[in-house]
Amino acid sequence: MATSDYTDTRLLINGEWCDAQSGKTLDVVNPATGKPIGKVAHAGIPDLDRALAAAQKGFEAWRKIPANERATTMRKAASLVRERAPAIARLMTQEQGKPLAEARVEVLSAADIIEWFADEGRRVYGRIVPSRNLSAQQLVIKEPVGPVAAFTPWNFPINQVVRKLSAALASGCSFLVKAPEETPASPAALLQAFVDAGVPAGTVGLVFGDPAEISGYLIPHPVIRKVTFTGSTPVGKQLAALAGAHMKRATMELGGHAPVIVAEDADVALAVKAAGVAKFRNAGQVCISPTRFLVHNSIRDEFAQALVKHAESLKLGDGLAEGTTLGPLANARRLSAMDKVLENARATGATVATGGERVGSEGNFFAPTVLTNVSLEADVFNNEPFGPIAAVRGFDTLEEAIAESNRLPYGLAGYAFTKSFRNVHLLSQQMEVGMLWINQPATPTAEMPFGGVKDSGYGSEGGPEAMDAYLVTKAVTVMAV
Ligand code: NAD
Repeated sequence: MATSDYTDTRLLINGEWCDAQSGKTLDVVNPATGKPIGKVAHAGIPDLDRALAAAQKGFEAWRKIPANERATTMRKAASLVRERAPAIARLMTQEQGKPLAEARVEVLSAADIIEWFADEGRRVYGRIVPSRNLSAQQLVIKEPVGPVAAFTPWNFPINQVVRKLSAALASGCSFLVKAPEETPASPAALLQAFVDAGVPAGTVGLVFGDPAEISGYLIPHPVIRKVTFTGSTPVGKQLAALAGAHMKRATMELGGHAPVIVAEDADVALAVKAAGVAKFRNAGQVCISPTRFLVHNSIRDEFAQALVKHAESLKLGDGLAEGTTLGPLANARRLSAMDKVLENARATGATVATGGERVGSEGNFFAPTVLTNVSLEADVFNNEPFGPIAAVRGFDTLEEAIAESNRLPYGLAGYAFTKSFRNVHLLSQQMEVGMLWINQPATPTAEMPFGGVKDSGYGSEGGPEAMDAYLVTKAVTVMAV
């Protein structure tokens, strides 16, 4: 079944790759062809029990390694990821669909993220607090929280794992991840780099299977001390509730619906280039993808026309083919979702300025789409499309645009284009988002916080805040005797 350079994926338990005890597997499908290309092992409860025991053992071993030595091992893993990037990127494109160049950037940026966190792990400081009694010393110590259960989605098969993995390992935690069944080989290659770099057995583990069964078993399990999830808001709320019921700390990186405010004084060409590129990256299947384009009415038509031109310049095709700039959607569910968004947009009076339909009969191809005159009631303006659809509306005052951008329960990313300092000040103060990019596309880096507010979740996956999520605080007071 496997094609020449796509590999089947097994479970990683206690430092060894193994089949599920039941022998059960799932097919992996190439979204560019709709054809199976390989298989992934499907874990059952006995496999999870073994993975949990290994995570506990891995934690005991990894936490005892000094932070500087942990950093050296992590840096070794980063070098291996960088060295293997061309092959790993090919795996990713075949299972996820994104153009090879985008896959390569994702893999290389994983190496950068690992290195940043490796170094950050050397700077986990506690503190000494002046005591009220001069014979006593008060210490605040930071310790790793314990074995982590992570759940990650298919849109960035490596990036979604590596942010969690790097912060967890740098803090001294062990890490058991249920990565996406639809895109298993590239995250497996990421974990292989850590195994090859020499992390103790059980420090990293990888399982696949039935997402609800795995989360339902791992989250309440006493071995697991921390839960981290990236995915949709409804699933995130379920998992956060389960984590809460068992008093497990949780990080939730959930859906967004990013507004893009293009003010009257914006550089329109820059706005189209920056937001257009961001919109169609990974075929719009990005939690921080620009989705609600709010453009000042004086420049709305000019902006929409330029965005249409940008969309029409994209080359849709198999991500492995030379020159492809827009790949297929990652799975057939997204294709049906796009059909529904379009049907609803048409029914609510939107104009389809370009695209708006499936392309070809093989694979999950959907044309890059720009909708104008979109009503506030349209589905696309209320639920994140998670696909290659840009929806444009006009506004008259900046206050009106800010009110619209804050109308939804989501608050992940926001974008704005303006040359005025007053506008920048207003937007920075008033937009209810976790991340705001002004006059540029999104540039998430390891050193900057990454996360949302409101229904987009809580916790951060970047910057020192990302480490806090994996650390607990112990207050120790010692009396001299
Ligand atoms: P979904 O909501 O069923 O799944 C989203 C992710 O959560 C998948 O990776 C899935 O494996 C996982 N998941 C689902 N139920 C789970 C459970 N009970 N326990 C643990 N993990 C579980 O739907 P989908 O069709 O895969 O994606 C649809 C929507 O999800 C998108 O429209 C988008 O809003 C959201 N999504 C968000 C991100 C993100 O980066 N925040 C990534 C992928 C999908």
